[in-house]
Amino acid sequence: MRITLHSIETQVSRCTLCPLSKTASHGVPGEGNPHARLFFVGQAPGRNEDKSGRPFVGMAGKFLDKQLERIGIDRNDVFITSVVKHFPPDNRMPTPDEVSACLPYLLEQIAQVNPAVVVLMGKLAQSVKNQPILRGRKILELPHPAAAMRFPKLRKQFETKIASLK
Ligand code: URA
Repeated sequence: MRITLHSIETQVSRCTLCPLSKTASHGVPGEGNPHARLFFVGQAPGRNEDKSGRPFVGMAGKFLDKQLERIGIDRNDVFITSVVKHFPPDNRMPTPDEVSACLPYLLEQIAQVNPAVVVLMGKLAQSVKNQPILRGRKILELPHPAAAMRFPKLRKQFETKIASLK
């Protein structure tokens, strides 16, 4: 079967490769422009994302939307996803096994979208920065939006760094 963004979505929605699929309500494959120049990566879906099946729709998502708007970038023009595609119970950190099971989806999404810039938000996203598919692309490391909205120092860092995407 030919791999497309759509086929990745279908695979994520049916995925049982790790235990998170047993407790989550929806897979959250990610969404956005299939030819985006900018590709944003977070950690894992939260509660709101689990309910809706869409990435970054809760408080952290509102913060990200506002930051994009501030620098004149339309959310619909970028691609947004997370390393892990199912909600970890109680919003806990995904385990290394869960990350390994899910990572091929992210790598394939990057291959399909072929963005010039990959924005890695938070430590878990930044742990993928040495993957071969990222070679030759600009990488921007930002604090995770959930942390940036809480801590003024991280917010400042987030705002300064994201402004380089203008
Ligand atoms: N945090 C993430 O890392 N991803 C989401 O989709 C929502 C919150």
